[in-house]
Amino acid sequence: MLNARTLIAAFVFPIALGAQTTLDKSETALRGEVAKRRDDQISYLEKLVNIPSGTLNVTGVREVGRVIGATLDSMGFKSQWVEVPGDMKRAGHLVSTHVGKAGTPRILLIGHLDTVFEGPNQRFERVDTIAKGAGSNDIKGGDVIMIYALKAMQAAGTLKDLNVTIVMTGDEEYPGEPLRIARAALTDAAKQADLALAFEGGSRTQATIGRRSASGWVLKVGGQQGHSGGVFRNGYGAIYEAARILDEFRRELANEKDLTYNPGTIAGGSNVTYDSLTQSGTVASKTNIIAPITWVQGDLRAMDPEQIVRAQAKMKEIVARHLKGTTAEISFAEGYPPMAVTPGGEKLLTFYSDASAALGYGALKASDPALRGAGDLSFVAPFIDGVEGLGALGSGAHSPNESVNLPALTMQTERAAVMLYRLSKEKAENVRRKPKM
Ligand SMILES: [Zn+2]
Repeated sequence: MLNARTLIAAFVFPIALGAQTTLDKSETALRGEVAKRRDDQISYLEKLVNIPSGTLNVTGVREVGRVIGATLDSMGFKSQWVEVPGDMKRAGHLVSTHVGKAGTPRILLIGHLDTVFEGPNQRFERVDTIAKGAGSNDIKGGDVIMIYALKAMQAAGTLKDLNVTIVMTGDEEYPGEPLRIARAALTDAAKQADLALAFEGGSRTQATIGRRSASGWVLKVGGQQGHSGGVFRNGYGAIYEAARILDEFRRELANEKDLTYNPGTIAGGSNVTYDSLTQSGTVASKTNIIAPITWVQGDLRAMDPEQIVRAQAKMKEIVARHLKGTTAEISFAEGYPPMAVTPGGEKLLTFYSDASAALGYGALKASDPALRGAGDLSFVAPFIDGVEGLGALGSGAHSPNESVNLPALTMQTERAAVMLYRLSKEKAENVRRKPKM
């Protein structure tokens, strides 16, 4: 009989009702197929890591794409290479599609082909339960998790129903410019998909469904050059004006939740060269000269597009309150869009968490949006919901000491396989982003 307490419990925890927290027969079979390919998966990772593919190594990035494309094609995918304009000096992207059962979700899987570092000392090397090597964790470890989850599904006979497009960008670590064109292959795929799963670094206990934007700004300040003795009478100069602006940024904008902006460099004096691309320059002047020029370059991180608009408007307003005898202008660069936490994203995280729990790995929580760096999933966030962090566990990503945890590859591959299998049995409209009311 229902008493008041069970009624309240049922009302408060509706999500727990119907959650599939044990493995069905097909899922148990999937787990077996992942285990069978464990050694093969590690050898494949070794093969990928030993193809040096730093972002600007166009030949290497293409070769990683060729190897992965051939693997996917042998599984019934159709792969194509998407070129980017030559002056971008990037390799392009791999796009592979697999058509499954109509009416089930069209899933976008995101990985990448390039690495931050590469080099003769960063070849694949197994040390006990870890393996070192360039990209072993970020993201070649994530790529083999994706590929071997799909291989397990193929062997278990469940891949045939899956509608999936894989985009592996060739320049995730150092995107070509302009970003809009560099990411066109990804955003085009997102417009044809219902949801996205991304294979950057994973965790035992967390995944990401929200992350902040990352974009840049440059502040150019001018002042009337003159003898320092006249500074308070004739005009304050560019350095005082830059200091005023930065201090007002800090005082007037610092209290907004999840918003940060950081001046990364500053260069001021009478002779200033500054290159905002390399973020470096030179300064020279004298202490008895009122500085005529100051450059500041910084970043801006926000949780949603409205917050970016608000912050930029406020920053412009602050910049325009010029001190006597000074000028200033601020410009904002294109960047990674924010990925706000959405109900759809939360639902996908529940799917992933339930898959993890059913496998005996425990539930997963959402990571703090303020803490995760920007990534390719951000570019699809304006169109579809997604989860980040289905990738490898390891350490030293973006450093020459990168390594991957090999036993955890199995956990992540099982989680991905069960998640994909469960999604393939859903109706697309159940997991697609709902229009805002
Ligand atoms: Zn990465």
